[in-house]
Amino acid sequence: MKIEPQATTRAKGGVRNGAEYIASLRDGRSVWIDGERIKDVTVDRRFRGAIQSIADLYDMQCDPALSDKMTFASPTSGARVGLSFIQPRSAEDLRRRRDMMKTWMDAVGGMMGRTPDFLNVMVSAYASAHELFAVGGERFGQNIVKYHEFIRENDLALTHSLVSPDIDKRKQMFEQPGEMVMRVVGESDAGIYVSGARSVATLGPLANEVLIMPAAAKFPMVEEAEAYAVGFAARIDTPGMKLICRPSFPTRGHFANDPLSARMDEMDAVIWFDNAFIPWERVFMYRSIKAVESAMKSPSGPHGSHQSATRSLAKMEFLLGIAYNLMEVNHSRFPNVLGLLSELVAFVEILRGMVRVAEIDCVPGPNGTVVPYEQPLNVVRAQYPAMHARALEILQFLGAGNVVVAPTVEDLHSESGPAIERYCAGADIPAERKMQLMRLAWDASCSSFAGRQNLYEKFFSGDPWRNAAMRAERYPSAREAQDRVWAFLDRNGEWQQRINGDLSTTAR
Ligand SMILES: Cc1cc2nc3c(=O)[nH]c(=O)nc-3n(C[C@H](O)[C@H](O)[C@H](O)COP(=O)(O)OP(=O)(O)OC[C@H]3O[C@@H](n4cnc5c(N)ncnc54)[C@H](O)[C@@H]3O)c2cc1C
Repeated sequence: MKIEPQATTRAKGGVRNGAEYIASLRDGRSVWIDGERIKDVTVDRRFRGAIQSIADLYDMQCDPALSDKMTFASPTSGARVGLSFIQPRSAEDLRRRRDMMKTWMDAVGGMMGRTPDFLNVMVSAYASAHELFAVGGERFGQNIVKYHEFIRENDLALTHSLVSPDIDKRKQMFEQPGEMVMRVVGESDAGIYVSGARSVATLGPLANEVLIMPAAAKFPMVEEAEAYAVGFAARIDTPGMKLICRPSFPTRGHFANDPLSARMDEMDAVIWFDNAFIPWERVFMYRSIKAVESAMKSPSGPHGSHQSATRSLAKMEFLLGIAYNLMEVNHSRFPNVLGLLSELVAFVEILRGMVRVAEIDCVPGPNGTVVPYEQPLNVVRAQYPAMHARALEILQFLGAGNVVVAPTVEDLHSESGPAIERYCAGADIPAERKMQLMRLAWDASCSSFAGRQNLYEKFFSGDPWRNAAMRAERYPSAREAQDRVWAFLDRNGEWQQRINGDLSTTAR
């Protein structure tokens, strides 16, 4: 069976608006949650809030007042396309791209990790280094370039899945029992067939396409892994592909009650392939360990980290905003409270500095592009999980009992309303306004949403322990620092002689 690789019904290219994005999700996708198949994710309460949040981001690109900030002229069609698709050629391009991404991230308080800019940036980076994909065959290099153009001109939203599930961690992916790890199971003149599972795909049910690539840190570079050495893109409504979602967060749909859970649940899913067909035009690596090794040298890591560090900055600023508001509303300007706030200030300023240095100290990349300097971005990846966990703890310290007793909209409009209005009011704000802030503080620091965010920050870019080991292994400035130490020790004799000489002339 041949499926059409092009997933668009739009008359014109360039940036999409929110309504076009929402309409694009009404296809034959197989999305499962709580044991049921969802007919239309755009009208299901478990997905609708997050879909609207992303639609709002798409609308921002179409706002004439923001056009220069959010878009650039496509190098092929001349249409205005999203700036996250740019292949940056200067530090200034990186700054512009960050400005665009920060505008999106500020709109969601940094609480959505997989807004479309994340994968736009990654695919742009892959395409900039297309020669690395051509190692597995000339056509694969061309495919990644064309795919980049395709998603840029149609402004598609992508999810990705790099990791294979494992039943037995002592075993490699090709040794896992039950043939459950996604692998190539067939091929024809038109394309390839894959079966098995991939996890985790955040945003999966809310995306147009999924990008499947091997995970850099985990992939076993041995011949037996050949059937797993595959990279491709697939439409979310690909026949034979289903998304099995985790439960959504408990919310009854009142945004004032659950301002984050109800609007920002970007959803995580396992993707199950059952003899799913992928046309050759969408295949970027195929049964080639060499191609996997080669593609790992692409600059998608530092470019992706530029997006995620920008998000970390926006999120930490948002958490800081909540914290300062809690202090103000509670009139708790005590030295210990200010001490906690100063920790958040330090986190924000460290993050801002790291993002900026990565742009200013960018290095030459493939085909005339530049790549953000990766060391400060690695520092963000390494340190942000602890900063984030501490920030949530600080919100808990500042919110304390106020957060846990914060009423809901239903409470306020119940028989208890008049009592709540008295005991829940702040010194200078009414109960309803204070309740909104307290519910936000709860959702950001204590709810299931907050727990998932904490988990996400630890693991979204892979196992932090392996990442840390890899960063230590490859730290480029280590050699110079080591040599300086040896050079320092080399001067022992010289020092000894000078001191001995000085001592002998002054000795009594
Ligand atoms: C909320 C969330 C969203 C995510 N979204 C995405 C996404 O959109 N796309 C995507 O591709 N991925 C995503 N990830 C997946 C992420 O890439 C993986 O969770 C991550 O790579 C870790 O893999 P794992 O979950 O299999 O953990 P594991 O590898 O199972 O690690 C679990 C623990 O076991 C230890 N461990 C495992 N194997 C070894 C070993 N051989 N030696 C020593 N210690 C070991 C680890 O150190 C760790 O402490 C997401 C993860 C989370 C939590």
